[in-house]
Amino acid sequence: MMKDKLVIAEAMNGSVRIRAARTTDLVEEARKCHGLFPTSCAALGRVLTVDAIMASEMKDPDARTVVTINGHGEAGTIVAQADGAGNVRGFIGNPQLYYVNEATGKLDVGRIVGTEGTLVVTKDLGLKEPFTGVVNLRSGEIGDDFAYYFAISEQLPSVVSVGVLIGTDAAVQAAGGMIIQLLPGASEEAFDRVEAIAKAMKPISTYIDEGKLPEEIIRLLFEDANILEERDIRWHCGCSKEHFLDAMALISEADLIRILEEDHGAEITCQYCSTTYTFSEEEVRSALEKHRNVENRERFNR
Ligand SMILES: [Zn+2]
Repeated sequence: MMKDKLVIAEAMNGSVRIRAARTTDLVEEARKCHGLFPTSCAALGRVLTVDAIMASEMKDPDARTVVTINGHGEAGTIVAQADGAGNVRGFIGNPQLYYVNEATGKLDVGRIVGTEGTLVVTKDLGLKEPFTGVVNLRSGEIGDDFAYYFAISEQLPSVVSVGVLIGTDAAVQAAGGMIIQLLPGASEEAFDRVEAIAKAMKPISTYIDEGKLPEEIIRLLFEDANILEERDIRWHCGCSKEHFLDAMALISEADLIRILEEDHGAEITCQYCSTTYTFSEEEVRSALEKHRNVENRERFNR
């Protein structure tokens, strides 16, 4: 059975870097987690896919690349987070949007994302200061917006093809992405060739839908491609009840007491995967104790 994966390659004597991914399964998982309607699914799926590809440059499995997009369209904020181990998760403000562009017959991602806002990339490499790059959105179609981000923020002329194909049953039929980048020192000839390939290539989701593997798509476009690396990528949130209990200990004492007295417990839903965790009165009380212990320790340290 075919699985999601990411392939990294180079061509033209190392002056072109190509990264391609099949993300059909992980976008389908996102759809099921969040109950995504087709256009919301295409928007979030595109962001998840590009983020998964971007995170592949990180060697540390705990390093993260976070993408936040808000173009003040109906979609609201879209967030994707991917780590160096190939885990990807994310969410979209409004999961229930379904618009088709009448002129193209395609899902109207640009309409729901909007263009009155920014694309923010934060790379947390475990160093003191995370790297942050920001660009204004161009079309809200995601692929164009990332191409602009790479050109402006990372100074890498790039072709970004990303797509999610939704089947007649509303499930994800095919999803994938490809980033082609001209590395510093690339020749005029390399620019011309990449431009010609970008013009001639089909949408990436079409190749994935035809059953082509990422390495096959790369070889189809670049006959001189040299495959460097293959990685597994998957939908994985990694949240847990313990994680949220720890987070609860960080909210104010007054709020915790109010939760205990008024609600006698708490319910928290993970934004990233929509899993709901239920906390009993006793568990909230343990968070309150933890909170007080931390406060006392801090007082002592002062
Ligand atoms: Zn979660």
